[in-house]
Amino acid sequence: MSPKIEKSDSEWEKVLTPKQFHILRKKGTDLPGTGAYTYHFEEGIYKCAACGAVLFKSDNKYESHCGWPSFDDAIEDAIIMRPDYSHHMIRTEIICANCGGHLGHIFDDGPQETTGKRYCVNSTSLDFVKKDSIQK
Ligand code: FE
Repeated sequence: MSPKIEKSDSEWEKVLTPKQFHILRKKGTDLPGTGAYTYHFEEGIYKCAACGAVLFKSDNKYESHCGWPSFDDAIEDAIIMRPDYSHHMIRTEIICANCGGHLGHIFDDGPQETTGKRYCVNSTSLDFVKKDSIQK
């Protein structure tokens, strides 16, 4: 599976902040415990900060104590997984299925009572929309 939107780095640089560009397009990582959403537990949805695609629901967010926002599930078909062998580790990268933006990684140490998965996501890759302000 490939992301739907394809843009060059220079096109992304025009629409993203330098920090968003670094994380979303250059696979950067927020420092642990620093992001806007790590300890954020309001009701709503989390969109891709680059393209606006809806990625996660607050219902699936949980406190993993890993230092990054963690979810036990994602919106169906919103995310693509890819093997990542960087930094001398074997991990699975998660990217936005719509724009290919780097979100973080997925691990198998999530809550056993639900999916057992931990979607470990950079706050910088996300935009939260509060439940009351979601228009439908
Ligand atoms: Fe996206």
